[in-house]
Amino acid sequence: MSALPDSAVTTVTGACPHDCPDTCSLRTTVIDGVATRVQGNADHPHTGGVLCAKVSKYTERTYHADRVLQPLKRSGPKGSGQFAPVSWDEALGDIARRLHTIAQRNPEAILPYSYAGTMGQVQGESMDRRFFHQLGASLLDRTICASAGSEALTATYGGKLGMRVEFFAESQLILIWGSNAITSSLHFWRYAQEAKRNGARLVCIDPRKSETADKCHEHLQLLPGTDAALALALMHELIRNDWLDHDYIARHTLGWDALKARALEWPPARAAAVCGLQEAQITALARAYGTTRPAAIRLNYGMQRARGGGNAVRAIACLPALVGAWRHRAGGLLLSASGALPAQRARLQMPHLLGERRPRTINMSTIGDALLHPGDANFGPKVEALVVYNSNPVAVAPESHKAAKGFAREDLFTVVLEHFMTDTADLADYVLPATTQLEHWDIHGSYGHTDVLLNRPAIAPEGEARSNAQIFRDLAAQMAKLNPGFAAPHFHDSDEALCRTAVAGTNVDFDQLLNDGFASLKLPEAPFAEGGFQTPSGKCEFVSERLAKQGISALPDYVPNYELPDANAAFPLAMISPPARNFLNSTFVNVKSLRNSEGRPLLEMHPDDAASRAIADGDLIRVHNPRGEHVCHAAINGRARKGVVVGLGIWWRKNGENGTNVNELTHQHLTDMGRGPCFYDCVVEVEKLATALNA
Ligand code: SF4
Repeated sequence: MSALPDSAVTTVTGACPHDCPDTCSLRTTVIDGVATRVQGNADHPHTGGVLCAKVSKYTERTYHADRVLQPLKRSGPKGSGQFAPVSWDEALGDIARRLHTIAQRNPEAILPYSYAGTMGQVQGESMDRRFFHQLGASLLDRTICASAGSEALTATYGGKLGMRVEFFAESQLILIWGSNAITSSLHFWRYAQEAKRNGARLVCIDPRKSETADKCHEHLQLLPGTDAALALALMHELIRNDWLDHDYIARHTLGWDALKARALEWPPARAAAVCGLQEAQITALARAYGTTRPAAIRLNYGMQRARGGGNAVRAIACLPALVGAWRHRAGGLLLSASGALPAQRARLQMPHLLGERRPRTINMSTIGDALLHPGDANFGPKVEALVVYNSNPVAVAPESHKAAKGFAREDLFTVVLEHFMTDTADLADYVLPATTQLEHWDIHGSYGHTDVLLNRPAIAPEGEARSNAQIFRDLAAQMAKLNPGFAAPHFHDSDEALCRTAVAGTNVDFDQLLNDGFASLKLPEAPFAEGGFQTPSGKCEFVSERLAKQGISALPDYVPNYELPDANAAFPLAMISPPARNFLNSTFVNVKSLRNSEGRPLLEMHPDDAASRAIADGDLIRVHNPRGEHVCHAAINGRARKGVVVGLGIWWRKNGENGTNVNELTHQHLTDMGRGPCFYDCVVEVEKLATALNA
């Protein structure tokens, strides 16, 4: 079978690789070897022929004039932007020697750093993991997005499972909680629209008046980090009015009496004061949720990016069991469906290559502190080498001035696999050109639906770009000259072979993937209609002994933010930093048409907060707290609630007026569960700047 299409005009089926729950099926039109158009696959039900604006522009990104197309070696001081092109042999030979030298002293001084810049099983977590496991490098705790919610869901349901997204179309009430679906889950939104046309009521719960809130029947604009208090008050009202499914509770839940006692501590008036809502909003929502069937909740990860994020997800995840919403396929909750994918991760990643070694684990959410740590008996050795792929930590990690300072260490050896010179690539010793999704094989599960997708290469790699898996294969070949362990046959598996390995022995038919580009997993329509939770008790666990043993509250609770806004304090405004509509984390910031749509880095402010600081729409402002300052422009557009400002992200630092982005202000404290970052748990003050910085 040919890896590339051979006719002059053809269409190639692929999958969107980006960190988005929708995992769209792509159709790329290729004319004489050039990708001319990327469209949504109309045959894939979840994609329905529609892509978001970001990926519709994929050819602009792939053929971008700024693509890194050959290996680059730093030729000036760190961060000077001075790089010289080198051959692959020179780059890989030197990198292998440097890593080998460090590994001979202590392989834990080497750290991989990757996340979901590319979500594929092959280009994201296969040959790379084999490489680092063979080396014995430090392990990375990949927490930066979803770990609090993931652990909460696992504690409550036993895994990352939930409603099938297509059945939201049949719901009569949909709570869209912590999600700007129009921006970050467009295809779920299509199902929600269908439900709306069929008479469903849509309620948005979000501190920002988002584009999604605009289109819902109702918006509860609560204060950041107060979601658990709202969920407990909803429970209170469900109990008080007996809007409960006693049979479901008795047969399929664990810890009802204890949860009931906890919920009765939260009358709506108490929650209203904590959440900054009207009591009547809470009682009305409880009535709707308690009396409408089927009722569904679409959670997203925004609401778990605060200190109590794990507890908040647990509290919300209890709601469907209380009212028996799971009985109907259009009722229940969806945060992540990724637990449904039967991928052969161990075969892809080969953790057994570690042997008896048990390297330390470094949390990616505290990379700033980790890189600045001198090393000691507790921490282990100072990080001497870093290999970054599928991520731009200098822009996306919290407290980014520390991340930037760490990456700027002259004694740190940094290799970055990238498409573009991002903030992180700017601080590398080597930048290795990586292929885009149009240029390589990959296989994808989804965290928003329950299909598996195959990505076939549509075009040959641009310039000298190589796939991530190829780069680690080639690096292993260089290492094999120094360490015979890297000569093993599993370091020769091709990308296509790795795709086959990902689903070998599962009920996913690879031939179907080759033919159609996707295959639907065979799953029940209503996963918990008859209980069957994957917890130790087999029930929806309101009370978790496992968490109690970890020192976490056995029952869900409201855990206040680390940083609470106080009108009389020096930093009286809460700040959240959700994604800008045309960016996906820090990806797409350099695609001109998308960046033009966003304009410039903005901070949304409530008119009262702006007026009390003599700030007008469009003014240049300084947003600051003890961690740093970020200069951007004020947007008084009706989206921020009083007392909360919204820094849409994630711009690259180098696009910022003072070389920063919103993460200059965020901190490295971790969530109550999952060791995740608290991006939306941050206080700031804002002031008008009299003149532009460069005036
Ligand atoms: S980013 Fe999301 S909505 Fe856009 S094409 Fe990719 S999967 Fe689809």
